[in-house]
Amino acid sequence: MGANKTKLILLGAPGAGKGTLAKMIQAELGFVHLSTGDMLREAVKEGTELGKKAAGYMNEGKLVPDDIVIGILGERLLAEDCEKGFVLDGFPRTRKQAVALEDILRGERMSLDLVLNLETPEEVLIQRLSGRTQCESCGAIYHEENIPSRDPGVCDKCGGKLYQREDDRKEAIEVRLRAYREETAELIDFYSEDGLLKSVDSGKDVETAFKQIAAGLKDG
Ligand code: AMP
Repeated sequence: MGANKTKLILLGAPGAGKGTLAKMIQAELGFVHLSTGDMLREAVKEGTELGKKAAGYMNEGKLVPDDIVIGILGERLLAEDCEKGFVLDGFPRTRKQAVALEDILRGERMSLDLVLNLETPEEVLIQRLSGRTQCESCGAIYHEENIPSRDPGVCDKCGGKLYQREDDRKEAIEVRLRAYREETAELIDFYSEDGLLKSVDSGKDVETAFKQIAAGLKDG
């Protein structure tokens, strides 16, 4: 199996590095990166009906209802480029989403190959989320201490403006971590029962985690 044919999920709490690692997996290993968070933020920015429904939940750090998220991801998975393989970032986040994903993939004669659980201590998650900024033009992710941009507030890659996500405020971070514990963490058992789960230590620097992931994917 070629690495970029793999159908992969990155599972982990907010701040575990899913977005950063998925972008590296896309850039260096040729996977299609599918982030429901990015899709929803795009819908909010464009002011679509779906975006209007999702915005309130997102700003407070709550999960967007399953039907909305399953709908947008389901549609995206039908695109031809997904047949080659993909890395899912931020989906599924509930058991209902995980079951829906299996159904969608089965309908397309596809199946998951691997679920990587990014393990990160809670104090590291909070430190990462609190200082995180993102480029409003190209989506690149920075951190004021861990990954500073050369010019404060300006993206190194495209010169775009960096902003703090509404849901990276302290109150929203607490809600997101609770949603993870109460609704998403059970997916670790769900996928280990399927024999698809592997753990990755994502508590240190992102390069170390990426090397571990890349080596595993090349072997696979
Ligand atoms: P993320 O960029 O993955 O951290 O997602 C940002 C926000 O979008 C989350 O806090 C949720 O409000 C919403 N969201 C993204 N993916 C999902 C999902 N699979 N289920 C429910 N809400 C989601």
